[in-house]
Amino acid sequence: MKAEIIAVGTELLLGQIVNTNARDLASGLSDCGVIVYYQTVVGDNPGRLKQAIADAYERVDLVILTGGLGPTKDDLTKEIVAEYFGKKLVLDQPSLDRIQGYFDRMGREMNETNKKQAYMPEGCIILENNCGTAPGLIVEEGGKIAILLPGPPKEMNPMFEEKVKPWLSGKTGSTIKSRTLKMTDIGESNMAAEVSDLMEGENPTVAPYAKEGESELRITAMAKTEEEADGLIEPVAKEIYARLGEYIYGEDDTTLVEALVKKLIEKKITISTAESCTGGLIASEITSVAGSSEIFGSGYVTYANSAKMKMLGVKDKTLADHGAVSEQTAKEMAEGARAASGADIAVSVTGIAGPGGGTPEKPVGLVYMALADDKGTIVKKLNLDGSRDKVRRRTVKYVFKMVMQRIDEKGDNK
Ligand code: ATP
Ligand code: MG
Repeated sequence: MKAEIIAVGTELLLGQIVNTNARDLASGLSDCGVIVYYQTVVGDNPGRLKQAIADAYERVDLVILTGGLGPTKDDLTKEIVAEYFGKKLVLDQPSLDRIQGYFDRMGREMNETNKKQAYMPEGCIILENNCGTAPGLIVEEGGKIAILLPGPPKEMNPMFEEKVKPWLSGKTGSTIKSRTLKMTDIGESNMAAEVSDLMEGENPTVAPYAKEGESELRITAMAKTEEEADGLIEPVAKEIYARLGEYIYGEDDTTLVEALVKKLIEKKITISTAESCTGGLIASEITSVAGSSEIFGSGYVTYANSAKMKMLGVKDKTLADHGAVSEQTAKEMAEGARAASGADIAVSVTGIAGPGGGTPEKPVGLVYMALADDKGTIVKKLNLDGSRDKVRRRTVKYVFKMVMQRIDEKGDNK
């Protein structure tokens, strides 16, 4: 089914608000087998709105409109759609009762103008609004479908998820489902090479993605029901696990740090951090995961040389001979943090995040990271590019990858 999204609102035209509804609808519609061909924005103007609707039906069969369902005078989407389809607006008592109930719960008087929201085009399907007053609606006539949703995203999104998606999936007879397998320590091209035969499949499709040092494979199936889609995805996922399982750290919304913290908790390995150029970002990420207190007791932000010496026992001579951004300093920082904290593993980073401070020998983006544990200390050198922010963020990712790799290769319980 081909669709057009019409976002109604003069504020959108003037750039006072961002059209997040179009973005959210566009990505949600593809999940239920609907292809968006056009997106339109039109102001709160009856003539132009009516024209936009007429134009849309020249191109598509399904038009989704957001905004202009409120009680005020400039809210006219429902009226114009009713006019376009030649339908009268009639009072829908259940809608009126629900709006009344909403005001009762809020302890507020219902205004006469709010009653306007209970007048609906005759014969339409009404979509209850559990997060506000304006009901949404669906009009279906002569092969044309109009779906009207409220403007505020906190009302529009739940209504779309709960009411519109199931209705549309029923209509198109198809639903699209994806499962994403997330990996580290393998580049996008190597990953893709391992599954090139699977990438030729049509249902499900397998597509590679790369971002910030991570690689992903997204398996997408189209089927009549979610269960059927799961059934198509499962054997392909299994095959990918068989080939690339050692690199897969999680699925869908799982992040690398969540997977890492989970693994540290499972293996009962505690960790400490010694950070220079990341200024505490690594500790911040670890502690953003619920339950991290089981494996993280302390971290050190040692920006100045004096702090590196005082808190971590980095030697004066090491700093003088090799500089703060060096393999030797990274090593002493990690070992010092491990000794000071008593953690099983300590990681450290020291580098030049930029934009200034680089030299030909030590350019911006040069970072040393180290990991100290009971088997010894490893140090890795990174040459990163990009802004200060990017260098810092990517360093954090690399540190997590280093720890993940180390605890995977240890394989035992400590
Ligand atoms: P209300 O009952 O609040 O008047 P409504 O359905 O009439 O809702 P509008 O009056 O068009 O919707 O918009 C209300 C608010 O919703 C806007 O001020 C804006 O904050 C938000 N909004 C509207 N359209 C969009 C959109 N396309 N994307 C993001 N936010 C939007
Ligand atoms: Mg409004």
